[in-house]
Order: sequence, then C-alpha cells, then structure tokens
Amino acid sequence: MLVTPREPLETKTTCPYCGVGCGLVVRPSGTGGVTVSGDESHPANLGRLCSKGSALSETIGLEGRLLYPMVGGRRTGWTEALDLVAGKLADTIKRHGPDSVGFYVSGQFLTEDYYVANKLMKGFIGSANIDTNSRLCMASAVAGHKRAFGADTVPGTYADLELADLVVLVGSNLAWCHPVLFQRLAAAKAAQPHMRLVVIDPRRTMTAEAADLHLPLAPGSDVALFNGLLAHLEAGGHVDRAFVDGHTSGAPPALATARKQDLTAVAAATGLEIDNLKIFYDLFTRTERVVTAFSQGVNQSSSGTDKTNAIINCHLFTGRIGKPGMGPFSITGQPNAMGGREVGGLANQLAAHMDIEDPEHRRIVGGFWHAPRMADRPGLKAVDLFRAAHEGKVKAIWIAGTNPVDSMPNADFVRAALHACPFVVVSDVVRDTDTTRTADVLLPAAAWGEKDGTVTNSERRVSRQRAFLPLPGEAKPDWWIFAEVGKRLGWTNAFAYQNAAEVFAEHAELSGVENSGRRDFDISPLAGISRDEYEVMQPFQWPLHAKPVAGAPDVRLFSNGSFYTRDKRARLVPTPFKAPASATSPEFPLVLNTGRVRDQWHTMTRTARSPRLMGHIAEPFAELHPDDAAARGISPASLVEIVSAQGRVIVRAQISPGQRRGSVFAPLHWTDRQASNARVDALTGSHVDPISGQPELKFTPVEVRLFTAAWYGFAVLDREPRQIDAGYWVVAKAEDGCRVELADRRAVVDWHAFARDLFGINTELLAYHDTAGKRHRLAAFDGDRLAGALFVAPEPVALSRTWLAAQLGLPAITAKDRLRLLAGRTGNAADDPGPILCACLGVGLNQINRAITDDGCTTVEAVGEKTRAGTNCGSCRSEIRKMIDAKALQNAV
Ligand code: SF4
Repeated sequence: MLVTPREPLETKTTCPYCGVGCGLVVRPSGTGGVTVSGDESHPANLGRLCSKGSALSETIGLEGRLLYPMVGGRRTGWTEALDLVAGKLADTIKRHGPDSVGFYVSGQFLTEDYYVANKLMKGFIGSANIDTNSRLCMASAVAGHKRAFGADTVPGTYADLELADLVVLVGSNLAWCHPVLFQRLAAAKAAQPHMRLVVIDPRRTMTAEAADLHLPLAPGSDVALFNGLLAHLEAGGHVDRAFVDGHTSGAPPALATARKQDLTAVAAATGLEIDNLKIFYDLFTRTERVVTAFSQGVNQSSSGTDKTNAIINCHLFTGRIGKPGMGPFSITGQPNAMGGREVGGLANQLAAHMDIEDPEHRRIVGGFWHAPRMADRPGLKAVDLFRAAHEGKVKAIWIAGTNPVDSMPNADFVRAALHACPFVVVSDVVRDTDTTRTADVLLPAAAWGEKDGTVTNSERRVSRQRAFLPLPGEAKPDWWIFAEVGKRLGWTNAFAYQNAAEVFAEHAELSGVENSGRRDFDISPLAGISRDEYEVMQPFQWPLHAKPVAGAPDVRLFSNGSFYTRDKRARLVPTPFKAPASATSPEFPLVLNTGRVRDQWHTMTRTARSPRLMGHIAEPFAELHPDDAAARGISPASLVEIVSAQGRVIVRAQISPGQRRGSVFAPLHWTDRQASNARVDALTGSHVDPISGQPELKFTPVEVRLFTAAWYGFAVLDREPRQIDAGYWVVAKAEDGCRVELADRRAVVDWHAFARDLFGINTELLAYHDTAGKRHRLAAFDGDRLAGALFVAPEPVALSRTWLAAQLGLPAITAKDRLRLLAGRTGNAADDPGPILCACLGVGLNQINRAITDDGCTTVEAVGEKTRAGTNCGSCRSEIRKMIDAKALQNAV
C-alpha cells in the first residue's frame, strides 16, 4: 500500500535504527512514496547512510500495521480501550499495590514517549516497575559509568574516533552494527596510515577483517585482558601521576586486583598468546591518543559492569579521558537508548539523570512533578519483571514498542509469563508479532515517519525526529497514549500535554532544577521552548549552557578533570575476574554468542519488509568453526539444531574459520513470523550482571546437532504462502513475491497437493519427478507469468535463489524457458547475480566475484568502478575486501 507524504516537501529527521543516530532528508518520490537520503548537515553522519538507512523508504507501507485499538481480538475505539486499561490498572493497584503493575518499554521510543511513561509510573502510580529493552543493550555501561564517574556520562564524541592514533574496539562489530561510524573510522584510517585498529572479539567479524590486530579472546574474559593491561601499565610506570593523584581515587585497590593475574594467567584466562597480549599492551602503552569503544560484547555479560570499569580504569590510570582522540566510549545499540537514560527509562533511574535511591533526587523530581506518590526504591529490572509476572506478583503489564517474546532471554519463559499474567496490554505499530499474540488489549502506536520528538545518539547528540506522514487509521503517538491513561487515572493536569514540544519543554526544565553543574545532564536552556522553536531545533550535544546554535563545536566532558562524584574524583574500581555465570558441560559443550547481521534490525518487523535487505542473508544460521562442524558431521548448508537448557532452534549451518573453536554464533532476528523455529533467544538463559541486571546474551552453553531431513526444498512464489506443512521453513520477502526454504523429516506423499497448498493455487502444475532420486520440481503459471516454483531434493537444494526469485518479475516466460526454469538452470551464468552483497545497489556475490576473477579487480575501489558495489553506504566494503584477499591468497599458493 502506498503512503502519501504530507507537507512540507522536504523533512529533516533521524534514522530509527542504531545508536549512531544518522540525520536523514526525506522527500516525496513523486510516485506515492518517499526517498530517503543522508543529511549532509547532520554532524553524526555528514550525509552518509548504511544499507538499513538507505532502505527506509521500503519499510513505511501500511501492510501488517495495527491501525485500531483492539480488545480481546475485537476492533474497538480509543475510549473503550483506554477506559479498560486505566480501569484494570487502577483496580490492580487498589487490590495488590503499585508494584503489582509493570511497564516494559523500548529504546525505539522517542524521549518524549519515555518521559511521560516514566512520569506516570514513578511519580503517580508510585512504583518504579518500568524497564526498557535498553536493559538488554547497555545497562552495564550505565552502571560502569556511574561507578567510575558518579554519573552515566559518555565523555567523548564521534570525532574522537577519527582523532585517535589507536582505536580499540571491544565486543563491537562496528562494521555491521554501527556502519556509518565504521565508515567514518575507516576513512580516518585511510587518511592517516599510522592509525591502528585493534579488535577484541571472539569472532573474526567483518570489523576484525579491517583490524591491524585481532584478539579472538575466550568469551567473557575481557576483564582479565584489561586487568592485565592495567598491571602492565603500572609495571612499566606508564601512569599519569598528576591526573591519578589530582582527579581520581581507588587506584591502589584496583591495581592490587589487577596485579593478581600475571601475563601467564591472563593468557590462560583469555586463550590469547602471550606475544599477542604484549603487542596489544605495548601499543596501548606507547599511544597517547587511544579510544576504547565498546558495545554489546562487553555489556551483555554477567560481568558487564566490571568489564566497563576494567576498560575505564586503564583510561583513568593514563589520564586519557576528556581530551581529543582519547577516552572510553560506550556505543549504544538502539536509536534512543541514550534518550531513555536521560529521562530515567531504566527501573533503577529517575528522570534527568537522577537516582531513585537518592532522597534529595526524589524530592527534586517529586516536587517538580507535584507527584502524589513518588516511587522510593528501584523497580524490577527486565528479567525480574517477567519473572514476577510468571510468579503472579505482577498482575498487569503494559509492553510498548518492543517484542519481548522474541528478544528477551529465555524467551519461551517470557511467553509463558505473559500468558500467565492476568492483564497484558501491548502498544505497537505491528498487528501480528509473537508478543501481540499474548495481549488482552492492543493499542495502535504511531510509527517512524508519523511521530514527532527527539532522540539522543551515542555521542550525546539530541536530534529531532519529525513526522512526514499522516497518522494512519487511529494510530497515536506513545506519549499521547500514556498521557491519556494518566488522565483517566485521575491526574488530568499532570498529563495535559497537547504535543511533543510541551513534553520536551518540561523535560528540559527538569534537567535544570537545582542543578548548577551538579548533574551532567542539563538542557535547561531549552526549558519553555515554543512549538515553533522545537519544530526547527537543530541537533545539539548536552550538556547545554546556552541555547544551541548550528555548527557548535563538539562537547567533550571531563576535560577539566572534574567528575560527578561527591568529591569530584573519578573512581578506579577493583574488577576481579570472574568466569561467566554458566559453564559448558558434556551435554552442552559449545558457547552460543548471539548478535546482529548487517541488514537486519531487532526482530525484523521493519527490515523484513525490504527485499533488498532480505537479499543479503535470507535465512537464520549458525556459524561454526570447521573442527566443531566436522566433529558433528555437519557440512556447509546442512540444517542444524541448536539445543540449550532453555530451548531449541533449527537453522542453516555456516562453517567459518573465523569462528572461535568451541563457539557458535547465531543472529537474533528471526521470529515465528518468518521461520518455523528460529527464535534464538529461546536458547539464552536468564543469568544477569548482578549490578546492572543486564542479561548474559553472549554466553549460553549449547550443543549443535545435524538435523537430517527426509527432503529439502526451495520455493519462490508471487504471494505469501497459504499453508506450509513442513517441520522447517523460512519465508523471506523477494522483489516480486517471496522465497521459502523448506525441509522435513516426514515424507510427502503428494507433491502436487503440497505445492498447491504452498502456492495458494488450484491450477495444473508443470512438474518433473525423479521418484527414485527423490527429486521433484513443480511450477505454476498465472497466464505467462510465474506464480510459484518448488524444487525438492534429498539434500539441501543447490540452486541460485536470486535468479529464481527474479523469474517472478518477468512479464512472460516462454515454453522453452519454462522447461529451463524447471531444470533450475540459469540460461547464462552471467544472468545470475548471486546473493545480494551490496544491498544499496543490488549487486550480487557472483557479480563481484566475476569482477575480481574475470576482470582482475584487486581493490575495493576497482570492484566499485566495475559493479558499483560498495559505492553508496560502504557497509559491504569489508566483505568485498575479504573476497579480494581470498582470491589473492588463492593465486599465491
Ligand atoms: Fe541508521 Fe545505519 Fe546510521 Fe545506524 S548507521 S543510524 S542504521 S543509517
């Protein structure tokens, strides 16, 4: 369905995906949709975009949208739905107390949405049982910052990554997960050949491919690595004594802890060679301008807070913080994880970077809100919130803008918790997710492109998200929905906002109350901002000391050596190394590491709508080391079961020497909407960091087994499948329909009936059967056009998926070509682009291979000139580089 952009003709807004926070310019396409390009004036991206940002225009249609409130599966109006939600909350609170209700919100929220939901729960309902999916993303960084700095402060800016002489990336696949930031880093490195990049990651990721040194440490051993670095710095006398003495405390106990592991012990804990440890330690020691950037590989751990502090300790000890090109740098996953932190989005925070456990802070916030019932202690963090719902302690839960049945650890337990909870409200933009299926009430929320507000990126830069589409159906902004419930609960004045600008103005005002530099977060010059000023507000970094002006210099914190602790000193924190919370066993001998792939976002509710993005990786997979695969009889493209103590999934095997022996990587994106059994978070456990409450998503003991099917299939069809009667299936959108991977242990008796059910067609099929060889090929035509084709074999079907999917778009297929299609043969090998590698420009793997092999391209630029691959967003450049290197190696042996 096409959408009609509203005036004005050009809208500046912000990307809704990752924490880089790229600025966008959206314009009507002239054909009923929009075009999206990078905003050259936005300081985060300076016009760049990655493949996901470039494909945003393909994701804004209304297919699958939740457009009306629903109660018990029945469409209703806002009045009935809101009255019911408010009535149930009021009744539950009255009978069981404020802590019997909970909200679980999202890093996809705009800051204004977050602010109102938090105000309602913490100031008026009187509980702090509001947590966010950002708990899964960066809670350990928050806890580490607060221990070290006295506040949740990210000191640096993106420019520091370009100004550094050494960038250390820890647990961060920046090339795939924050591609524009990686492009900035790669460009800076190309311009400054002396610059060094060290990547610390158990897996040889695309980011590691670009590194000067890759340290594939044992999962969960980062604390040992950085303790070793701290001890090395001390042993060599590489300390900024004036800074440590004048601006920090806690160095002696932190050093005493670090010294307990000598180099041999560090090597044993990390699995790294002593020589490589020395190279890294010496590089860090002799390079003054060092940025250590970290992400989910650090945070999603039962020792995530200690990992953060072990990194910060090394920067404090050397005084490398608050100066250009230096500092620890937490890079958030979600677009507004930082904005959520600013308004107290986590269950253990208060608004404006205040602490719920501090009575003074409760007084300030409660007084400002005129709150009748301030929460006086932290609420339940995400894992505990769903556990409490399972145990019947939380009796009403409201989930907004997130899909915990797929994204929470131990996801089957979370689904059971929601089924057990007496009252579940879900506000979302999507009608059918694995979480909306558990809801009593569904509330239609505005989507990206329809809502106004602000987001804050990883470098503390606040940007406007602006609506360029009308609200469809009866969808409403999240802040409005929470405010309406607040009014119905009796707090009419406190929630009488007319628009997002009024919410922002109040949020800005609160940040300045009794602040005077005591708290890091201060945007009070924007208190009382008018709606018109808000409309044209330019991106700015906090803290603000005056109204922001365009082109202002970057704001770096701690350059004066003053921190937000009571004595203004930063803390070095002792970080004793602890092994992950769970351990491998003979039953579960491998370690599962979960993460993202380049072109997908979270549970794919948006990105799965784009055929271009689905063309990169269309099927869930498990990446295994060749030795682990061989020991289990697993060959490339086999199907495998991954089994843990919590659950089981079936995915495709990928075998890669870049995977650490004993480890398995699986992406987190697929849900029951796209696959039969690929919810990877059904495998992960509920262990959390004891300080931050962040789950250990990077370390789950598992076993991987070959899944031997009686048959394997691949189909393309020009519509959604009607019925899939197979134990294994995955559906992915293609340009003119969809593609389906299939397999089953059960034999199929009637392939014609199977294909008709799959295609949703009752016409005659063109078919080829090799019954003895168990090979079957069936195709259906709608006039001259292909409507569906199914290929079945006793082993994984080896056919070009891209070529077959492209046949759906042909206006006519001749009789001869129909037979060729049934044979699964591309007429000319040059016709087959192969799987899409460059999502922006639709360039396939085979095309790039031909440029390297046949045309002799030996650089990424040459491949770009020949094929255009990698010339737009650049997200695929690392993959092209890897292919060139592999070819060069092949030629050399
Ligand atoms: Fe969006 Fe890509 Fe920029 Fe992240 S790097 S904000 S996903 S365009």
